[in-house]
Amino acid sequence: MKREYYEVLGVSRTATKDEIKKAYRKLALQFHPDKNPDNKDAEEHFKEVNEAYEVLSNDDKRRRYDQFGHAGVGSSAASSGGGQYGGATDLNDIFSAFNDMFSGGKTRAGGAPFGFEEVFGGGGGRRGRASSGIPGTDLKIRLKLSLEEIAKGVEKTLKIKKQVSCPECKGSGSKSGAAETCQTCHGAGEVRQASKTMFGQFVNIAACPTCGGEGKIIKDRCTSCYGEGIKLGEVTVKVTVPSGVEDGNYLTLRGQGNSGPRGGAAGDLLVVIEEIPHELFSRHGDDVVYSLAVSFPDLVLGTKVEVPTLDGAVKLTIPPSTQPETMLRIPGHGIGHLRGSSRGDQYVKVNVFVPKDLSHQDKDILKELKKSSGISPTAHNDKNSKGFFEKARDIFS
Ligand SMILES: [Zn+2]
Ligand SMILES: [Zn+2]
Repeated sequence: MKREYYEVLGVSRTATKDEIKKAYRKLALQFHPDKNPDNKDAEEHFKEVNEAYEVLSNDDKRRRYDQFGHAGVGSSAASSGGGQYGGATDLNDIFSAFNDMFSGGKTRAGGAPFGFEEVFGGGGGRRGRASSGIPGTDLKIRLKLSLEEIAKGVEKTLKIKKQVSCPECKGSGSKSGAAETCQTCHGAGEVRQASKTMFGQFVNIAACPTCGGEGKIIKDRCTSCYGEGIKLGEVTVKVTVPSGVEDGNYLTLRGQGNSGPRGGAAGDLLVVIEEIPHELFSRHGDDVVYSLAVSFPDLVLGTKVEVPTLDGAVKLTIPPSTQPETMLRIPGHGIGHLRGSSRGDQYVKVNVFVPKDLSHQDKDILKELKKSSGISPTAHNDKNSKGFFEKARDIFS
């Protein structure tokens, strides 16, 4: 898992710029590659420290980080071992926290080499032994958003059902809170088995089968949660969605997933964005397109119309001699960019309105208009350019 930047620098969330600078200097010196030649661990730490400092030393980046976590500052996944996600610059990059999750285990806290349980997948979703107990699982929910909400960003309060810490036993799983040390692993939570293979002797480290890796065994089980320490509950979660997110993007809320059994750390909550198609606008990146039908006389003479935008109706000038399919731009009425404070634009695609039911009177007017010399395209072609057949001859000759 990607560590909190504050944790990386060992400062509080309210630390001053000076405190952050001091902490950074100390750590940067400590892990500097010149001082730790050929030490992969130190190199990783050094990168991590630099990345944390780059964000926390910048007011704007720090603000976004405080609000949205790693997602808000688009940190690269480089510190989690690079791999296929390293250096990604597209939009999905902002949710790199998600990537770490699936590449989890690449960087172990202690930098220890891969244990067998990782290589052979026997360890399940264990995330090292930093916290006691078995970690809770991650939770994924879908969040439907309108284009209006995506355009400006939105704060949502969601009700979700998940495994919460049992209120009766305060998550311990035991009525009295008592537990005894597991006899099999003597509290270590893992057992080592040496096995001989044709490649030599390997030490296999696996979760203790007696206590399931917890190192302790519950006495007098809580009757409310049957000793699990967790039970199904409903919680409300506030999610701040930045503007400019797209269908399929996700926000990772650390520690808001299912609680772990008997005091294990909670998993993460993944909020997957779903964009509700808009009935008036189609989205193209951070721009939106609106189709507008205009009468033939208005296209020729020009006019002023009111068009809907994501911010309500605005006045738009259709200039004289506007051709069908013309895109007129209304700046700043599109989707707010994910990074930065400006917004995309709205485009109005102008089409000709062709009426289906006309009165005799209207038809007479049109017939009269047809007689006019400047109204037909052939008149222009004859005067200004080569006719169709002439052009075709040029191309095929
Ligand atoms: Zn309980
Ligand atoms: Zn045990």
